[in-house]
Amino acid sequence: MEHEEFQQAEISNIIDVNPMVKRFFLKFKHNITFQSGQFVIIDFGTLKHTYATRSYSIADISHGNTIELCICLKEDGAATPILFKSSIGDLLKVSIPQGRFVLPDSINTESVGFICTGTGVAPFRAMVKDLLEHRKYSGNVYLFFGCRTQIDILYKDEFEELQKRFSNFHYTPVLSRENWNGAHGYVHKHYEKIFHNKPNAIIYLCGWTNMLKETRDNLKSYGYTRSEIKLEFYD
Ligand SMILES: Cc1cc2nc3c(=O)[nH]c(=O)nc-3n(C[C@H](O)[C@H](O)[C@H](O)COP(=O)(O)OP(=O)(O)OC[C@H]3O[C@@H](n4cnc5c(N)ncnc54)[C@H](O)[C@@H]3O)c2cc1C
Repeated sequence: MEHEEFQQAEISNIIDVNPMVKRFFLKFKHNITFQSGQFVIIDFGTLKHTYATRSYSIADISHGNTIELCICLKEDGAATPILFKSSIGDLLKVSIPQGRFVLPDSINTESVGFICTGTGVAPFRAMVKDLLEHRKYSGNVYLFFGCRTQIDILYKDEFEELQKRFSNFHYTPVLSRENWNGAHGYVHKHYEKIFHNKPNAIIYLCGWTNMLKETRDNLKSYGYTRSEIKLEFYD
């Protein structure tokens, strides 16, 4: 990547979501444009790791010169402990938005599916808002979000609010380690109910490799082809 593709951004706000997740707001000098689903790279200069850069999905649609990231702390990681000690006003070296994990210009499918765990929901928050609020997509939009307990459900109020406003938005948070009155277990048995009959859909998967590979294999077994399944691996 060319040097000039990195810019300085100031941490303009930090919201603690739960002990392991924070939302970081990064303010650039100029407005920045991007497509929902894209990510930025933060260059830490040096890290106790082979690579000094880490990628983070942009968790919201455009707000002028500010982007939002939703980041999970990996306590023995190289980069996230540094980010979690940072403060409002700190400066970071951040790339321009990039990546091809985006929505097609025109969507011809009856449905769009999003399946993720943990902070893999970050790009989907942007894509769901883009689809429903900006593009006025009228097909079904399914979001299956797997996490452990209720405090791990990211952007819950927002997604519930979207579900009230848009009857074509179907939101299913799934808890693996807490019994509650919602969906329980792993995400697989829940998206299966919708996708095993292979409705005409494009399906996006985001997060850590194991869940993604298992989900991709399941979707293939229902008859979905490579071009109908879009993946963003976090590792
Ligand atoms: C395109 C892209 C977008 C990404 N977007 C986000 C995002 O929006 N939010 C976010 O929190 N992370 C995101 N990541 C992951 C992020 O880049 C880092 O890998 C993560 O923050 C850990 O960095 P670290 O330096 O603290 O840990 P490292 O020192 O890099 O961690 C070491 C090892 O642990 C693995 N690992 C790290 N975290 C986890 C985890 N939670 N579960 C399982 N294995 C893990 C890594 O793969 C690596 O093998 C994204 C990655 C990519 C490639």
